[in-house]
Amino acid sequence: MSSDFSLEVEGKVERVRCQKIICVARNYLEHVKEMRAEEPEEPVIFLKAPSALTENGCPILIPDSIGRVDYEAELAVIIGKKGKNIPFDESRNYILAVAAFNDVTARDIQMEAKRKGLPWAISKSFDTFAPISKPVLLKDAGNIDQMDITLKLNGQIRQSSNTSMMIHKIDYLISFISKFMTLEPGDIIATGTPGGVGPMSPGDVVEITIGNCLYLRNPVVRI
Ligand code: MG
Repeated sequence: MSSDFSLEVEGKVERVRCQKIICVARNYLEHVKEMRAEEPEEPVIFLKAPSALTENGCPILIPDSIGRVDYEAELAVIIGKKGKNIPFDESRNYILAVAAFNDVTARDIQMEAKRKGLPWAISKSFDTFAPISKPVLLKDAGNIDQMDITLKLNGQIRQSSNTSMMIHKIDYLISFISKFMTLEPGDIIATGTPGGVGPMSPGDVVEITIGNCLYLRNPVVRI
């Protein structure tokens, strides 16, 4: 599987190499509650393998016998320039584009890892477990701090929230993450999912709409 995605800038489509996908856990209160987790004082960060990337229209491939696999609708921020220790009030300058993102999760595997106190990287990093929409440049995206975020499974709404409900906001996340790791062009920050996560099955179609410009649709296929 590839670790890159398409990005259109001024009519030209280029392939962007992604070196890391940085995910934020527990960033909407409704989701914190449904996971019976604690509301975090600081952002909870984990990494997802860039080789899990796939794009709009491509299938989410679920291997047989890995148990429950969930959708998680998230706003993704795509980094446009290298930065370390980025000041809070300069964070916006480091965003190139935004996209709709599905943080697909092998939930049974994740829960088992959590129970054992082990990392849950595998549950997040199967090939095709990181579907991303066509990105929209920040300047064309509208107010990313106040975008409706909706997920439909087979046409039925399962997640419905707004990016204004994030516990830790986008600018703070960029500043916080860059204290620990250098952000580089093409890096993706998945900013967390609202409440309403649930399982997907082969034959399902999952659609995410964020604001009025970001749209991601993927069928679910058993392999
Ligand atoms: Mg997530």
